[in-house]
Amino acid sequence: MNPKRLYLVITAHPDDLELLIGGSVAKWIDQGHRVISVVVTSGDKGTKDPDISPFELAQTREKEALEAAAFLGIEKVIFLRKPDGEVADTRSLPFELTSLIRALKPHILVTHDPWQPYDFHPDHQAVGRRVVEAIVASRDHLFLPGLEHAGLPRHRPEWLYLINWRNPDYYEDISEYLEKKLHAFSCHRSQVEQFQNPLDFLRNWAKELGQKAGVTAAEGFVRLRAS
Ligand SMILES: [Zn+2]
Repeated sequence: MNPKRLYLVITAHPDDLELLIGGSVAKWIDQGHRVISVVVTSGDKGTKDPDISPFELAQTREKEALEAAAFLGIEKVIFLRKPDGEVADTRSLPFELTSLIRALKPHILVTHDPWQPYDFHPDHQAVGRRVVEAIVASRDHLFLPGLEHAGLPRHRPEWLYLINWRNPDYYEDISEYLEKKLHAFSCHRSQVEQFQNPLDFLRNWAKELGQKAGVTAAEGFVRLRAS
């Protein structure tokens, strides 16, 4: 029997988890594992609506993320509320992420692939890079030594799963969880409205990855040993 694991999923925007790996998260929870989500920005620039304010948009998107998380059974959603599109310039983020990793003690960290090219949104790579830095600062006690004295001793996650659009080397079979993923993503109404047939896109994408993995539907990762 697989031991129960804590997955800490750290993404840039409120809909990234459901869009990119909602099926895997549903599956992990169904298998009895725990999942906590950290959302770095509240997506306050993610709209084509000229009349909505960034503040109102962020509030709407946080509500949508909480609804999707409740549907999937995610234990907790932590909003860090950094400015959308400006993650790379946020000084406090490496410290905050290191503190969270040390406090929550995840076995598996999941985030955006910081080395994946051709991704327009700067926050995805920036979040991935900051998470990789935070793993190093979390696992060795001589990084941020004050944390040790503040009751946050070093912690070594076992695995880092990088969410990768194009060249995954590890697949989760989500054949039984695809419909659940689509429902969870549909909670992000402010985003769904902006795309043409996003559910068809997600279905086709899962099918394409499924073909590579030899199953009906899949999501892809690059999987690295973190310890
Ligand atoms: Zn995003």
